[in-house]
Amino acid sequence: MKTAPPITLALLNGHVWTGDPSRPEAQAVALAGDRIAMVGTTDDVRAAAGGAETLDLHGQFVTPGFIDAHVHFLQGGFSLTAVQLRDANTRNEFVERIRKFAAATPPGTWILGGDWDHTRWGGELPRRDWIDAVTRDHPVWVNRLDGHMALANTAALEAAGVTDRVADVAGGEIVRDASGRPTGLLKDNAMDLVGGKVPPPSPEQNDRALDAAMTYVAAQGVTAVHHMGTWDDLEVFERAWRAGRLITRIQSAVPLSTWQRLASTVASKRFGADGHGDRWLRIGVLKGFADGSLGSHTAAFDEPFTDAPADRGLFVTTPQDLYTWISGADRAGLFVAVHAIGDRAIGTVLDLFERVERENGPRDRRFRVEHAQHLRPADIPRFSQLNVIASMQPYHAIDDGRWAEPIIGPVRIRTTYAFRSLLDAGARLAFGSDWDVAPPTPIEGIYAAVTRRTLDDRNPRGWVPEQKITVDEALRAYTSGGAYASFREHDEGTIAPGMLADLTVIDRDLRAIPPEQIRDAHIVRTIVGGKTVYLRR
Ligand SMILES: [Zn+2]
Repeated sequence: MKTAPPITLALLNGHVWTGDPSRPEAQAVALAGDRIAMVGTTDDVRAAAGGAETLDLHGQFVTPGFIDAHVHFLQGGFSLTAVQLRDANTRNEFVERIRKFAAATPPGTWILGGDWDHTRWGGELPRRDWIDAVTRDHPVWVNRLDGHMALANTAALEAAGVTDRVADVAGGEIVRDASGRPTGLLKDNAMDLVGGKVPPPSPEQNDRALDAAMTYVAAQGVTAVHHMGTWDDLEVFERAWRAGRLITRIQSAVPLSTWQRLASTVASKRFGADGHGDRWLRIGVLKGFADGSLGSHTAAFDEPFTDAPADRGLFVTTPQDLYTWISGADRAGLFVAVHAIGDRAIGTVLDLFERVERENGPRDRRFRVEHAQHLRPADIPRFSQLNVIASMQPYHAIDDGRWAEPIIGPVRIRTTYAFRSLLDAGARLAFGSDWDVAPPTPIEGIYAAVTRRTLDDRNPRGWVPEQKITVDEALRAYTSGGAYASFREHDEGTIAPGMLADLTVIDRDLRAIPPEQIRDAHIVRTIVGGKTVYLRR
């Protein structure tokens, strides 16, 4: 007779939202090592727990661990470990933060990032002479928050070979003082003069960024992420995986054009017997790009932009290349996600998915459209017909909602971030953040999907309110939706016996409060594989 493994931790007296249709609600959960052993009433679970450690939840809300289905994890980590200048309100503060950061950083290390905003101190552009005296041993290259200008100190200009006689750059500006000497501030294309010379991060810097990212998302209740990145990123994850250092489960996508390299990596079994990794680190997914973004007018639409009648956006990869790569990847047994934002890009990607399925035959392939922002009404039912996952970031909706209508007009916004229409048509949603572009906070994402109140609070009833969804639906998109999108639904995304013990404890039941209060909820505890990785103090 097989005996059940001993219970190691019992969570009692909670409101447990399981995501499991056979038992949607419970009071208590028992864990045995890294798996869930039992879900039920407090009395039943207490009786089964015997002498195991128990935790009284006092009515707190428990969900399956959140899965963020679209992140740039290391960029996110670097944004946390960089010098923080975003809220430097005076010139003195700007200088002081850089001085302190340099003092705590080994000499010779580049100081990067920052995200400063000169409008906070009256609009004077920063100059290298502000910081040179406190950064003699560190090249400094800190950017404005929009990424369109950055300041280099003298050490950085010297390291990049930029002299006082440097020639002007087309499409950019080298800001110079009255004598013609560069002040260190470079704009747009001129930024390459220094930006192109910054050495890649060291393994130690990468490891630190990963650790910072994992710790940060754990505090947001996130237990797994789908990373969209590069082979170099995968190397960083692999190092942490082999060292047993991961506290976030990572599915790591690599560029679609490199599908042959991924096919041979899977075949090499470097990531374990099935080639695709294990419950901590997974490979096998490719990420491609169809178009650009709405804000920069580079998303591909059928009709021109409302504010730019000669322009309807562009493809950043030709449909022919997309087809060749998707088809090859699919035949090799790999999985494909494609960034598509404008309606023409999304429709084209759905056409390609349909064609590849027809040509390569039936298979459980779960193609993904990343972002899926602006949909032709006719394409909405195709997601469920083709079993294509809509991988969407609801926070973008309440951000873009402030400025999208002048760009695409009153008709196209009705099927923009069309959560309701997609669900009604039977589509599967996987929600994520797109961190570091947006905050990696599922609570904010749920708030966004349920209220659609834009960040400027100018749409109190919701921006395109008919596309709002319920808390239950948003929770599913952040849990079982992400699990399904990564072929992990047998291990992740629901609270049921046998599933991995990934749980998020929240201080209030998100379904029981007015929707506008959702964003005030706090993550209390995050458990990954039976271990507490975040505890609110
Ligand atoms: Zn992204």
